[in-house]
Amino acid sequence: MTCTDSPGRGGTVPVTGVGVEQAVTLSAVVRLYGRGNNKVPALRGVHCAFGRGSFTAVMGPSGSGKSTLLQCAAGLDRPTSGRVLLGTTDLGTLTETQLTRLRRERIGFVFQSFNLMPSLTARKNVALPLRLAGQRPGRAQVDAALQQVGLGDRGGHRPAELSGGQQQRVAVARALISRPDVLFADEPTGALDTGTSREVLGLLRSVVDQAGQTVVMVTHDPVAAAWADRVLFLSDGAVHGELAAPTVATVSEHLARLGG
Ligand code: ADP
Repeated sequence: MTCTDSPGRGGTVPVTGVGVEQAVTLSAVVRLYGRGNNKVPALRGVHCAFGRGSFTAVMGPSGSGKSTLLQCAAGLDRPTSGRVLLGTTDLGTLTETQLTRLRRERIGFVFQSFNLMPSLTARKNVALPLRLAGQRPGRAQVDAALQQVGLGDRGGHRPAELSGGQQQRVAVARALISRPDVLFADEPTGALDTGTSREVLGLLRSVVDQAGQTVVMVTHDPVAAAWADRVLFLSDGAVHGELAAPTVATVSEHLARLGG
């Protein structure tokens, strides 16, 4: 199975070498759950790479391994075999402490359910990862992160005082404040309506186009996937094709063929 990456919307460049132009590389990644005769293969030998400054959507039927792929790529789960590289760092060689530090410093994660602290203001939510890392982020740094997501005037609001789309944008600012190598998003628009989904997808698109960051997003929605440079399709724990410059129509057609 080959894999390509798209550095800009529409462009396609073959994968060459490892580590320099790739933000994340997975080779022969297998993840088995369970024990003995009850082993379930969630990933059966995945090869793929996510180019720096690209926006990739990961799609596939329920149970095809999308969340497991994201968790292995983000260092939240360890493959049973195979390798995951973040840039040139082989995650398999790291201790748990090193992996925790790498996740804190080099990886951002956005969840479907926002996961903001309800008692904290947007500003304090955004500052939290740096404070947990023992740093004291300045007000200007936090406000700049909020401005990047279009919420420069909402820093003093608590999550309950913000719309769903605004809460997810705070979660994106929180994930980006440490300038991670990759932002992983697991169904980031799954809890949002069409209008607020557009806000969040437009934001993810702009962090790639304007800030040159790398985004990998799991979604089941062809409309969301069409915002990406490329769609990677999973089926039964393996990569089953990809699409560059996806449109709603081409994504839907591919999913129908996969049975998703
Ligand atoms: P998707 O995100 O595409 O729905 P998942 O990565 O969640 O797929 O799951 C892939 C397969 O691995 C499924 O068959 C699922 O039941 C199984 N699986 C996932 N997590 C676990 C777990 N913690 N224990 C056992 N099986 C699991």
